[in-house]
Amino acid sequence: MDRKFDVLIVGSGVAGLYTALNLREDLKVAIITKTTLDECNTYLAQGGISTALNKADEEAFVEDTLKAGQYKNDVKAVRILAKESIENINILEKMGVDFDKKGESFDYTREGAHRVNRIVHYKDYTGKRVFQTLSFEVKKRKNIKVIEECSMIDLLSKDNKVLGIIGVKDKESFNIRAKVVILATGGIGALFKNSTNQKTITGDGISIALKHNIKVKNLQYIQFHPTGLYEENKVGRNFLISESLRGEGAKLINKNKERFIDELLPRNVVAAAILKEEEKTKCPYVYLDISAMDKEFVVNRFPGIYKGCLERGVDITKGFIPVTPVQHYFMGGIDVDEFGRTSMKNLYATGEVSCTGVHGANRLASNSLLEALVFSRRATKDINSNIDFIDLLDSAFHMNLTEAYEFMEDNKKVALNKFKEVLGDKKNELVSC
Ligand SMILES: Cc1cc2nc3c(=O)[nH]c(=O)nc-3n(C[C@H](O)[C@H](O)[C@H](O)COP(=O)(O)OP(=O)(O)OC[C@H]3O[C@@H](n4cnc5c(N)ncnc54)[C@H](O)[C@@H]3O)c2cc1C
Repeated sequence: MDRKFDVLIVGSGVAGLYTALNLREDLKVAIITKTTLDECNTYLAQGGISTALNKADEEAFVEDTLKAGQYKNDVKAVRILAKESIENINILEKMGVDFDKKGESFDYTREGAHRVNRIVHYKDYTGKRVFQTLSFEVKKRKNIKVIEECSMIDLLSKDNKVLGIIGVKDKESFNIRAKVVILATGGIGALFKNSTNQKTITGDGISIALKHNIKVKNLQYIQFHPTGLYEENKVGRNFLISESLRGEGAKLINKNKERFIDELLPRNVVAAAILKEEEKTKCPYVYLDISAMDKEFVVNRFPGIYKGCLERGVDITKGFIPVTPVQHYFMGGIDVDEFGRTSMKNLYATGEVSCTGVHGANRLASNSLLEALVFSRRATKDINSNIDFIDLLDSAFHMNLTEAYEFMEDNKKVALNKFKEVLGDKKNELVSC
């Protein structure tokens, strides 16, 4: 079933869907996604989306992002992020995302290392709400075709120019040709034993980039979230206890019920303090305590976390929550410029798979959904104005199913080996170590 489109998007998280919606409606667009449309990290996002509050807050937002990123950030990209934040939040609102409000204004919340409350949210399942709105809009668009249960296993390319992809669907390998391909394949969490990420997020964009000598950047910058729920007999991914609990006043205590850190410091600092405490107390977790807060507030503000913990035997309104640091986010990725362009011609990357340089060495809380929005939209501005000058070229590479599955396994090995190399003493966290 070989197919052709003007634009092919790989991935159906916020980056893939928002890109599709910002492309010209006269373009024939396809979104392919590995499993079902909703199986993406975007669906899981709890805390919210950062935004400058107004023009006057832009510089403070930039400074908070740089400080959290240990000044390893690309300052130009951070300035773009802050400057274009409000317009993208407004676009989401116009599309139908009903962020929580206090009167006429957003009910801004706060997470570690933001100096003011500047995070918009929908209760504690912002990602799901954003996903629902974007996917609803995508399904309405006649020019966008969604292909589920379809995995990209390689790019079709010639002379460093992308021509399409090789994919697998319904136990068949096939080609999709396109003038422009956008990688929106998300992060690398499923390569780790303990991660908050979906199990399908295996760093495919990175391995394919490595195989094609597409430039990648900052692969060593991997974020461990301080507060994954600790479960002795965990099945699947780690349940996340959002930083916004600490933003609303939850305290971290060790097994002797002593507080040991300012909860609102950047994630890497809090995660390091927790690991030190676990070592000191010889206990594989510490506790997060929100039980002193009003029960009604906690249940209404954090319904997803309340329910998720209750299902796992923890009532957060009554007892302590056992937590420990787990892999969460990838600041590095495919090197892109401020329009999402990679080092391969006509190939773009947006969202967590890309490295715009916005996050530096450590992501400031709630900056990733915003990065995906801002830079996806910028990529589409570039594509919308240039695609008429790009030809759809002929290309084909067919393989049988056995070869295709071997290719997929090899992709995973390439990513694992690369991260083994860059992770140093943390490499034991990987699935195959
Ligand atoms: C539990 C959790 C909570 C979070 N909370 C927040 C938050 O509050 N605020 C915030 O800003 N960020 C948060 N994040 C981070 C944020 O959710 C992600 O960075 C963001 O959603 C990434 O979006 P994306 O579109 O790049 O990738 P994803 O949403 O992960 O989507 C990737 C897509 O690519 C597809 N794909 C991958 N490989 C292939 C392939 N080979 N072929 C076909 N399709 C493929 C997947 O199926 C999926 O559809 C959170 C993350 C997690 C895990």
